[in-house]
Amino acid sequence: MNLPSLRDTIHAHGLDAKKSLGQHFLLDPSICARIASLGGDLTGRSVVEIGPGPGGLTRALLDSPASRVDVVEIDSRAWPLLEELASFYPERLHIVQQDALKLDAASLGPAPRQIIANLPYNVATPLLVGWLRQADQWERMALMFQLEVAERICAEPDSSAYGRLAVLAQWCASCSVVLRIPPGAFSPPPKVNSAIALLIPHKQQPSPDLFRAMEQVTAAAFGQRRKMLRSSLKPIGGEALLEKAGILATRRAETLTIEEFNRLAELHLANKK
Ligand code: SAM
Repeated sequence: MNLPSLRDTIHAHGLDAKKSLGQHFLLDPSICARIASLGGDLTGRSVVEIGPGPGGLTRALLDSPASRVDVVEIDSRAWPLLEELASFYPERLHIVQQDALKLDAASLGPAPRQIIANLPYNVATPLLVGWLRQADQWERMALMFQLEVAERICAEPDSSAYGRLAVLAQWCASCSVVLRIPPGAFSPPPKVNSAIALLIPHKQQPSPDLFRAMEQVTAAAFGQRRKMLRSSLKPIGGEALLEKAGILATRRAETLTIEEFNRLAELHLANKK
């Protein structure tokens, strides 16, 4: 038995794209294959896809040598369609009927895992921050974002895009924008350009406490990004903290390197103990 085409599957299951779920589907198999290839050699790997929708990217992942593909989908209209796909791959495709924001990694294949996904843009940033909190769980992430968000993740200091997301992401992973995708590649086309950011988590990851301290430091520093750090960091130690870290109190958040932020987070954590 052959797999029906994606368009026929969408039609048969009445899966009209819902704006509220950020649904913009990829129907071109060559684009899906290109995205799946960003996982590198998937032989024997466990891959997680967030938001499979009609399953275009899922099919490409199943065409790879990955040993297991877990798909996490919130939209119950897509579940029967995914069950149908799973009947072709009963050993390898696992469907998690859940909100990815509440995902328990225990329901997935064994770590280390990869995440390869065309993310729903309305929840893409909180999803990414949640994965960074447990970056030791992931070997690689190839994630489609709104282009502007992908650029913020990979931004360098002293640029307007550099902020909290860049610091958290680059502190935990090597980050690069690897593929831009125009709106016309999606059905329906989004109003924005899109891009895949590739994140390769570092071998050493911060402890959960240190991660929380970094979240506090970056929230304070970038919450008032136009102010000097002596003023924006006042609630968490201000000038004393900066002096210990060897950072001039007159600098602004967007000029600090990841390494300097790391020093501030470590000192902030030590102060809290
Ligand atoms: N992967 C499909 C593709 O490329 O054609 C669909 C991508 S579409 C941009 C985003 C998908 O994420 C949709 O299927 C949507 O239902 C799903 N989604 C939205 N919010 C979600 C959430 N909180 N948890 C899990 N899936 C979600």
